[in-house]
Amino acid sequence: MATPAQETQRIASPLISIREVRKSYQLEEIQVDALRGVDLEIESGEFVALVGASGSGKSTLMNTLGCLDRPTSGSYRLAGHEIVTMNRDQRAKIRNQQIGFVFQNFNLLNRTSALENVELPLLYQQGMTRSQRRERASNLLDRVGLGDRKSHHPGQLSGGQQQRVAVARALVNEPSILLGDEPTGNLDSKTSRDVIQLFGELNERDAITIILVTHDPEVARAAKRQVVLRDGMIVCDTTNFREAFEALRINAEPVDQEDQ
Ligand code: ADP
Ligand code: MG
Repeated sequence: MATPAQETQRIASPLISIREVRKSYQLEEIQVDALRGVDLEIESGEFVALVGASGSGKSTLMNTLGCLDRPTSGSYRLAGHEIVTMNRDQRAKIRNQQIGFVFQNFNLLNRTSALENVELPLLYQQGMTRSQRRERASNLLDRVGLGDRKSHHPGQLSGGQQQRVAVARALVNEPSILLGDEPTGNLDSKTSRDVIQLFGELNERDAITIILVTHDPEVARAAKRQVVLRDGMIVCDTTNFREAFEALRINAEPVDQEDQ
């Protein structure tokens, strides 16, 4: 049981607090430092885009935030709980309570209806009847604008509609945070805009904290805050999209002739 002082601390602390997080991979003789001392705080209700060149550590940071992976060192507190010292089962439990994921490839089950896809995570939840699960999933499909596509299979839906199903599925356990690694990476620009708009609505209307990894400037611009990674470190953390864009541009600049 938490003491009253610990409880106050928990309530006062931000939803996400990352301190001096490092992540190294050992590949035979070579050590790869994917994260090299990351500090990041995210409050409940924020909409954050993680951007940076390929290999800068975005997915590693996302997997850390999503409690899928443990950092090599440092601290990650999620909703007041220290994740770094948790075992796999403890991390799975807090992940299920707090986090919904969307993926670039949607990751839907193909031979299953939209409704059943959204219902699926609820099968692991004790104490819900079949009709309660149906109702929750059905309401979420209405919420993402697919009320008339509930019995369609993924193959009968467009890419944008499939990603909406995936968003509904990510929200079915009522998480506080929605995480996406390149969620518009497989969508054309028009469809991508629709999905970005959905993220914006979920953030504004439903106060869901959203953190997206993206290559797409349109997605980064839609976020309220941009965090730029370079070589495993945060080099820019801003609410001014132009500033983030500048930091990205510097990132991509070729090395000076004299330095070569
Ligand atoms: P990004 O998502 O920004 O492209 P990643 O987080 O995937 O970057 O990777 C950061 C660095 O860590 C890269 O150099 C990558 O090669 C390395 N890396 C990522 N995952 C592993 C792994 N499982 N084993 C070894 N190296 C990895
Ligand atoms: Mg990546």
